[in-house]
Order: sequence, then C-alpha cells, then structure tokens
Amino acid sequence: MIDRIKSLARQYAPEFIEIRRHLHANPELSYREFETADFVRRQLAAAGIPFETKATTGVIGLIKGKNPDSRIVALRADMDALPIKEENDIPYRSKNDGVMHACGHDVHTACLLGAARILSELKEEWEGTVKLIFQPGEEKNPGGASLLIKEGVLENPAPSAIFGLHVHPGLPVGKLSFRSGKVMASADELYITVKGKGGHAAAPHLCVDPILIASHLVLALQQVVSRNNNPHNPTVLSITAFNAGTTTNVIPNEVKLKGTFRAMDEEWRFKAHELIRNIAGRLVESMGGELDLLIDTGYPSVYNHEQLNDIARQKAEQYIGSGNVEETEKRMGAEDFGYYSQQIPGCFYRLGVMNIEKGLTAGVHTPAFNIDEDAIETGMGMMAWLGCSVSL
Ligand SMILES: [Zn+2]
Ligand SMILES: [Zn+2]
Repeated sequence: MIDRIKSLARQYAPEFIEIRRHLHANPELSYREFETADFVRRQLAAAGIPFETKATTGVIGLIKGKNPDSRIVALRADMDALPIKEENDIPYRSKNDGVMHACGHDVHTACLLGAARILSELKEEWEGTVKLIFQPGEEKNPGGASLLIKEGVLENPAPSAIFGLHVHPGLPVGKLSFRSGKVMASADELYITVKGKGGHAAAPHLCVDPILIASHLVLALQQVVSRNNNPHNPTVLSITAFNAGTTTNVIPNEVKLKGTFRAMDEEWRFKAHELIRNIAGRLVESMGGELDLLIDTGYPSVYNHEQLNDIARQKAEQYIGSGNVEETEKRMGAEDFGYYSQQIPGCFYRLGVMNIEKGLTAGVHTPAFNIDEDAIETGMGMMAWLGCSVSL
C-alpha cells in the first residue's frame, strides 16, 4: 500500500503543484473563501468524492473504503489567506491585491486534495472512512474549526482521530516533524480601559491620573506569570498597546491597553484569567480609578495525543525514512486545530518547505514567504498514508 501511495503521489504531484499555484494566485480572506470552496467542491466532484458544505465556506468530503464503519479518520486543511501584500516576483503571484497566502494554507489545501485523489483511487484497498475537512477562517477568531464543530463536523460519522499539517519554513523540504503533548499555545486577547479623572497637569491633586495607574498595572500584570505560574509551564503575558493623552499639560481621562495572554495548560489558562481580573481590579480601585477589562477568549492550546503522535511518527519514518523525521519545537503561536484536539485525539505535524539554496527561507506571515514545491509530493502522500493506515 505504501508503495502504491508513493508512486501515485509522485505521478500526481505536478498536477497538485499547479492546483497550489492556482490557489496561491487567488487568495481569499478568512470566512470569505467562496471561490476557494467552489474550487475544492469541483475537485472533489471530479474525483467522485461526495461532499457537503458547512459553516458557509467549509467543505466536508467523505471517502469510504472497505468496511467503512471499521475506522474513521479525519484529515484537515485550512483555506484562508492573510491581509498581506505579496512581494514575491513569481508567475503565480497573488492576483488579489493586499491578500496573500502567506501562511501556506494554499499548500495545505492542495496537499489534502492530493491525498483525497490518492485515497479515492485506492479505496478498494484500504479499510474504513476518511473525512476530509476543508475549513474556513483559521487566521481569525472565532476560528473556522470552532464553527465547524458547532455544526457537527466531528459527528455522523464521528472520527476517532484527526490529523492536520502545517508548512514549516525552518524545516528543510523532504522532512516532517512531530511532537507529542503540548505543541502550541492558547491565545486570549486583553482589552483594558483604565478610567481616571483628567484635568490640568499642574494640578495632579485634583485629578486621578490614569497614566500612572495604568503604568503600575502593566508592571503588576507581569506578576501573573512570574509569581503564579509554574516555571516549567510555558506561558506569556504581553501588553502590546498603551494609548492615552495628546499633549504636555493635560492629564487625560483614560488609558486604553491591549495585550495577549498565551498558555499551554487549559486549567492554568482560566486560573490566570481570574488572577488578571483580581490584580487589575484591586490595583486600579486602590488608586482611585475604574477598570473596564475584557478577556476575549481565543483558540485553545494544541495538544498532540501521545499515542496518536507516536503512531503518526512511525508512519512518517516508514514513508520518508527515519533520517527525515524530526522532533518539532513547542511554539507560543496559536492554531485553531486546538479546537479539534480538545475534542478528539489529534496530531498536528509540520511539513518542511525550506530550501536555502533556492532562497526559500522567509517566515510565514511575511510578504516574501514561499515554499519549495517539492514539499507537495511529501505532504499529499503522507496525508493519504495516515488517512488509510492509522487507527486508534
Ligand atoms: Zn497563520
Ligand atoms: Zn497557518
């Protein structure tokens, strides 16, 4: 089976590189993936794969092998692009000015379409069902994954495991990387207003200075992590915006702060929210101000199920050789794959796309990001191999 998949991946790779280029040239922003979803539906229809639409621009396909109820596995790709102006001078450069596939979701979609083609062609030769999830809105709250889960993507039929891949511009093309357990962080946004009483800067005793209070608050919030969190537990609290005042001789009425809170442990995450509320509330009150605090809860952390990750890693070693499989690092970035991995066993792994000789080293979310397209053969073949061979 593995050899059949490898040879089909080699045979079909040029076609799916073209598909990736088509997607790259026609990027769409989060939750507006209308043409991309149409394109995916046409590809699935051409391969004879039934599908349905969920969450407006999500496409869910189903490929049944032999004994379709014996095992059910989900494979996920995200389809949205970013509001970035592409700087690459390439024939398939973005035609949608100011929008760019700078996170490689064009690659993810092409790889999953390629895997679907292979799995469909070989469906008399493997057991079970593969659910294909082409999801919208990975880059933007509330996350397309959360919308699809609300619309029942993990039911009827219910997969026992889910896989997702992400391009990795720090990993050489031809390699894959895995990690067990906590791999990516949750991300919650902080919106804080400190209200005081403005007035003449020469008469501070008649004012409640929100700039002074907010300054104390920025420092005090650092205690949440440094004095309350177990140092072995990765977490970040950053205040990233501090806005108030317009001139030299007026104390303003209020200060607006923004920030981000990231964690890898769901229990600690919500305990920290309480600490933030308590420290901020008491400190601001003690100094005579008023506080408005919104913690906008974002994506949960990504947790790679140990046993599933071990199996997937072994499958990768069989597929591309153990010398091409690495351990990936933990990241404090967030991914809405976390929503799936909180519900069912999940494995989110990395696809190497870097090629130093070809100058393909730019990071994701930059205007110069691009990949070595040889990665597509590996990406689509490996997805197909996982889809038809892993059971949990
Ligand atoms: Zn991204
Ligand atoms: Zn991404």
